[in-house]
Amino acid sequence: MALNYASKINKIRTFALALVFIGILVMYIGIFFRSSPVIMSITMILGFLFVISSSVVYFWIGMLSTKTVQVVCPSCEKSTKILGRVDACMHCDEPLTLDPELEGLEFDESYNKKQ
Ligand SMILES: [Zn+2]
Repeated sequence: MALNYASKINKIRTFALALVFIGILVMYIGIFFRSSPVIMSITMILGFLFVISSSVVYFWIGMLSTKTVQVVCPSCEKSTKILGRVDACMHCDEPLTLDPELEGLEFDESYNKKQ
């Protein structure tokens, strides 16, 4: 089943990685403003902040990982982590659920919100 949905942990990880690149990019842009120390220090601080927030996000993933349930994916038979009521496999994006009531239902991320 091909779903346009990625595992939550994978999504957060991609976001954290993007933050690192944005931070490096912003600092790199700062190099072009060597003549203006003000702009250069602003871009350097901003880029540094992006890199710092990325490590915060990585820390947050670590905290979230302790709350996940490790299961073996029925589709690709690799172990994956489920966060919330429904989540996707980290390897093949197969939708997975821990709730028997949702079994066989069409995948919807709104199941994660409390009703
Ligand atoms: Zn899988």
